[in-house]
Amino acid sequence: MSLSRIFRDVLNLFYPTSCEACGDELLGNEKWLCVSCWIAMPKTNFHLQSPNPVEQRFVGRIPIQHASSMYYFNKDTRIQEVLHALKYKNKKDIGIELGRRFGHELLDSEWISEIDVILPVPLSKQKLKSRGYNQSECIARGLSEILDIPVDTDAVLRRKNTKSQTSMTIAQRIENVKGAFEVANASSLIGKHILLVDDVLTTGSTLESCAREIVKVPDTKISLLTLAYAIE
Ligand SMILES: [Zn+2]
Repeated sequence: MSLSRIFRDVLNLFYPTSCEACGDELLGNEKWLCVSCWIAMPKTNFHLQSPNPVEQRFVGRIPIQHASSMYYFNKDTRIQEVLHALKYKNKKDIGIELGRRFGHELLDSEWISEIDVILPVPLSKQKLKSRGYNQSECIARGLSEILDIPVDTDAVLRRKNTKSQTSMTIAQRIENVKGAFEVANASSLIGKHILLVDDVLTTGSTLESCAREIVKVPDTKISLLTLAYAIE
């Protein structure tokens, strides 16, 4: 291996030069994704419509004020590559940047100013240790930066290390996350409108299970955001 190749590989570790979604080389002013991938990722614009498909997914399950997702999630698409990088390739900064971009979009919604606190869906201690970070917290941090709303990572804990849900039916998923969450600091949530944030919405069983614990705290309201929305 030539010296220049080694130098380039080392540099690439710290300053990635290829797009996380399509693999093309990034231009000087591009970061994480190339401009065409940022443009091509399919936005839902659900935050401008109510009721919207995300809100409808929770009807009859838990009382929520508002809900939205930024992108449609389809298999074999750019958003899948990006979320994979965020979750499994230690690309925390992509999550923060996606959160910022989502934050800018949400400035156009009528309801975002009602939110008091942003709460990323927590990971179990064990999972947090093995991954090193909570990908939903990365998204929450980006949102917080733009919306100027604080993030709370201590009020709710995940006590159960749930199994991977990809091959489960809805009933199995609900059973899997039952009792997974616990409010550890109710006093910090009393009387607040809480924005629960997760990476992908599929059946919604994780968000539902987490929200069920939060609504037991007096005078709380809940809204939900996920970066991506999987069509069932
Ligand atoms: Zn690209």
